[in-house]
Parts: sequence; structure tokens; C-alpha cells
Amino acid sequence: MRRLRRIKILATLGPVSSDSAMIRKLFEAGADMFRINMSHTPHDKMRELVETIRNVENNYGRPIGILVDLQGPKLRLGSFTDGAVQLHNGEAFVLDSDKTPGDKSRVYLPHPEILKALRPGHALLLDDGKVRLIAEETSPDRALTRVVVGGRMSDRKGVSLPDTDLPVSAMTTKDRADLEAALQTGIDWIALSFVQRGEDVAEAKKLVRGRASIMSKIEKPQAIDRLADILEESDALMVARGDLGVELPLERVPALQKQMTRMARRAGKPVVVATQMLESMITSPVPTRAEVSDVATAVYEGADAIMLSAESAAGKFPVEAVSTMNRIGEEVERDPIFRSVINAQRPEPEQTAGDAIADAARQIAETLDLSAIICWTSSGSTAMRVARERPKSPIVAITPNIAAGRKLSVVWGVHCVVADDAHDQDDMVQRANRIAFRDGFARAGQRVIVVAGVPLGTPGATNMLRIANVGSDSDADF
Ligand code: PEP
Repeated sequence: MRRLRRIKILATLGPVSSDSAMIRKLFEAGADMFRINMSHTPHDKMRELVETIRNVENNYGRPIGILVDLQGPKLRLGSFTDGAVQLHNGEAFVLDSDKTPGDKSRVYLPHPEILKALRPGHALLLDDGKVRLIAEETSPDRALTRVVVGGRMSDRKGVSLPDTDLPVSAMTTKDRADLEAALQTGIDWIALSFVQRGEDVAEAKKLVRGRASIMSKIEKPQAIDRLADILEESDALMVARGDLGVELPLERVPALQKQMTRMARRAGKPVVVATQMLESMITSPVPTRAEVSDVATAVYEGADAIMLSAESAAGKFPVEAVSTMNRIGEEVERDPIFRSVINAQRPEPEQTAGDAIADAARQIAETLDLSAIICWTSSGSTAMRVARERPKSPIVAITPNIAAGRKLSVVWGVHCVVADDAHDQDDMVQRANRIAFRDGFARAGQRVIVVAGVPLGTPGATNMLRIANVGSDSDADF
């Protein structure tokens, strides 16, 4: 099965999309990678989902990536005697370390580290920003705040602190347990929530020990200030626009999306644009014009992937949401302006053999109008360097390593094929031709370019580039 677009689609699984039949439908409609959100998924369900996705992968013979998204340090209020209170503008409201249920004047905040870090003037956003408080007096066990935007507040609502540098790691005890359980199932990507600094990612890396790749969700203002460090430590970024739009003014989110997409593209690391892309499709079979435009913007920016959350996890039209994204991706990428936008944002190659070869492969493929750029890759890194070039020709990655194939399922433009390692260079070229022919990337008589690291199986040693003719015998068995 070949996709006719370069941008990838990441679909979150949930109550409406957890059985095999639905996961197959989502894959057929265009989902390239699935996300399991640990905020809502117990371990046994997570294991069941991983097994179901692996069975679907087996049936289609195409690598499918799995991203496990850790909840992170989501901060919450305690509870209220009557379950809820109404907070009015201008009133005083106290958050403290007293565990007794709250009322309209105070509530328990079960996070002593926040009370310690809060300073007068800092904002507290409750329930996704619906209620806004400003701290006036702070101490290690009590914060007196003023209600700036009032509203109804009920038990265990979320608290965001856009101005406070929290001395908490991005991994809670729950996250560590979820991480270990997920790694034991052999998933491909781990998403870290509420990352604030490069050290948060480094800490997670120590626990992951190379068993999965790490995607940092950028959703806090503190992370924006340290984006370069976070990107350096991470394998990918997610523009987590939901929480980002709570902690920062909404009008800042589009520019930050562009900034992050460009930074990640420059680094040659995947970037996913997430949240409310087709929000209205939770209840409607068709999206709004504005949503279509939002998805199209991410495609024009050359993001690696676009993500569905509740649309595919809990909505009424999960398959329609994926196929809508699929159609938008195909249509935008057919627009002649798309190519000029993508080319204008192409970063210079870095001074490595891999980048020089990737850049040359793109140029040769363009000059000679070749049908595909085919990469033999063991870790996936050669294919990622070629994807960084955002070439016009399709990219086919051949790997003997299923884990590399699954990891690449989130990378722009890469069609992954798992095959036995080649014996030598001739075998490599012949099999590249056959795969390009079989999967519809080249017809007999057309030419492709083959890129690899020789000797084969040496990760990161990209040093070979060959132009090859696809012969009429390319449909032979292999
Ligand atoms: C987001 O906030 O945009 C996001 C993707 O995170 P979550 O869905 O885990 O809240």
C-alpha cells in the first residue's frame, strides 16, 4: 500500500478506535502511526492496543509506528465540599497545603513544589484557562490570589502556571511506570509531556536506554525559551497546541508552530503538529473551512506529521477525520506553490558525508527527473537525512530492521519497506529496483537513485550514491 502524500498522519486511539477492525480502517484511510495516550489508557489496554496494531501491521506487511504519550506532571486542584464553587472577578481565593475539602474562599493544592515556586504576580490558569488567578502573597504553604477571570471551579481541575519555572521533572512516578510497561511491549516512540528543559529529556533518555525514540511535546512557555537545548536532546518535537494555547496567548501559537517546524526541519528531526486540527469532526462528518486551512498550513510548512486526538479517539467520525487529513495532504502537495514554499525553506546541508550525499541525491533526482530516491538504512538515519532535503522525488527506505521502519513511519515522505539485508552493492541496487517497481514508485525503463552506507549495516555511514535503471525483470520474485 502506497500513500500519495508526503506528510504523515498520526491518529490517537481511544474508546471508538481500539478494536482491530477500526484500527485497520484508520490505517487504510491513511493513518501512518498510532498514538496511545497514557492519560486515559491503563497498562492492560495499552498492551492490547500494541498487540492489535502489530497484527494489523503483519496483515498489511508495512511498518506502522506506535507512539506512547506519557501524561507528565499534570497539576490539579484538590476537591470542594460541595463538588464545585463559583469564583467571581475581584474576589480573593487561597490555594494551600490544607487537605480538607475547599469552599469559595480556598482549596487544597496537592503540589507543595508549586506553592514553593509561586511568586506574587504569577498567573494560575484553572481548567484549561477558563478561570484565571493572579498570586498576590505567596509562602511555602499558602498562596493568596485574586480572581481575574471568574467561573465555575470543580474537583480536581487542572492548573497551569505559565510564569512559574517549576522545579519538577517531566516524569512523574506514574510516567516511570507507564514508560517501563510501554517499553516492554516494544513500542517505537515515547512522547514526553510538559517538558521544560533539555535536562528533562536527558533524564528520560537515561531511563529509555535506546529502546525507543523520544518526542518532546512543546506546551510550556518555559520550553519555548529553551527550545534549542530541548531539540538537541530530543529525537523529535510535537507542537502540542492544546496546552500551549492555554499557557500562552492563543495568537502566539501560529508563530511558535512555524518557529518549531523550521527548527526541527533544520535539525533533520521529525516535527508533529497536534491538537484541534479537525476538532469539529468529533461530532460532524465534515470539517470547518478554517480547520481545513489549518491542516493545509502544516502541510505547506513541511511538517513531518499532523495529528488527530479526540477526533480519532473518541469522536463520531474517526475514519472520516483520517481520510479528510489524507485528502488535504494530497491536494496541498499537488499545488505547484507547495514545491516553491518547501524549496524556499530548505536548510543548508550540514557538513557530514550523510548530508552531502542526501543533498546530492536530491539534486541529481531533480536534474534527471528520477522516479525515486531509495535509501538502504539500518538505523533509519540515512532516510531521515534525505527527508530533511524534502525532495520532489518519493523516498523509499529499505531496512532489515523493523524497528527502524516503524520509527520512520512519522518521517516526512518516507515509504518504508522491511527486507533482508543486501549481500553486496549489486544485490542492493537490484533489490532497490524491484521494490521501487513492486510498490509503484518506478516503471520499467525509468531510473532511480540508490543511497546507502557501505559496508552495509554501519549506521550513519552514508557514503554511496548510484543511479540505476529499473529493468523489465524488476517484477521477479525476491
Ligand atoms: C496538547 O496539549 O496539544 C497535547 C497534544 O497534549 P495532550 O493531548 O496530552 O493534552
